[in-house]
Amino acid sequence: GPAARRVDELVRLVPDYPQPGVLFRDITPLLADGPAFGDVVDALVQTAGEVDLVAGMEARGFLLAAPVAAALGVGLLPVRKAGKLPAPTASQTYDLEYGSATVEVHAATIPPGARVLVVDDVLATGGTAAATVTLLERCGAQVAGLAFLLELVGLGGRGVLDGRRVDALITVH
Ligand code: IMP
Repeated sequence: GPAARRVDELVRLVPDYPQPGVLFRDITPLLADGPAFGDVVDALVQTAGEVDLVAGMEARGFLLAAPVAAALGVGLLPVRKAGKLPAPTASQTYDLEYGSATVEVHAATIPPGARVLVVDDVLATGGTAAATVTLLERCGAQVAGLAFLLELVGLGGRGVLDGRRVDALITVH
């Protein structure tokens, strides 16, 4: 569809960022193009079933989850990196290639049984998304699905999210 074509055309490839050997997908040219941004938000909205909340992962996930939530007429749940949220949080730590990372939410903002759509820009190894799913479920939410602009296939992201509904506007190798 048009959204997939826009992602393909407007997501910029940046070699050796943030480290040598990494090919970074930069979504800022896509965000800067109004009609393309609109098409992409519409396409993400189309992947959502019946949901009560949209969760966005810091930081680029926020940029996509917020307009998707507003378009659906549901609330937004920011999933933040450790130490950013002021009130009591629930947190989930996960392994990175070197070290670990932690994601946090204000658990009290999640109604019991809330159906949540998780949104981020890129699905790579799935570590961030899987930790987010675990965190939300520990808070009593139901993860209805996950939606990404871009899935890097071959890194196993779908595998660690097994059993979940995973949508990506485009898949790349
Ligand atoms: P994962 O946890 O390995 O699946 O990595 C996904 C997380 O890292 C997401 O929050 C993405 O925003 C970020 N990420 C990984 N690779 C890229 C990229 O090439 N461009 C933008 N974000 C990326």
